[in-house]
Amino acid sequence: MSGLGWMRHAACRSEDLGLFFGPDGEQPAARDAREAAAKAVCSRCRVRSACLADALERGARHGVLGGTTPAERKQLRRSYLRRMRRNTEGQCR
Ligand code: SF4
Repeated sequence: MSGLGWMRHAACRSEDLGLFFGPDGEQPAARDAREAAAKAVCSRCRVRSACLADALERGARHGVLGGTTPAERKQLRRSYLRRMRRNTEGQCR
């Protein structure tokens, strides 16, 4: 799927946005429960990998996206970008 066309197939389209983006000052226990529920939606989403790639490329700092929390994406982002750069360089040769 190219561009952002994948969004049409997002499992979260019919969900409350508040499940994926918590309020300011959210308590850790409530955040953990909300993120687990959001991840459950992501786990049955057919465009999860496109969503995660988009979030990593944009450096999205908020919300559960592609089945990951902001902290998890922070850990994934560096290796993801390195891999993308390597793939792009391989295509230029
Ligand atoms: S992976 Fe999660 S956040 Fe991304 S489109 Fe699917 S349900 Fe929505």
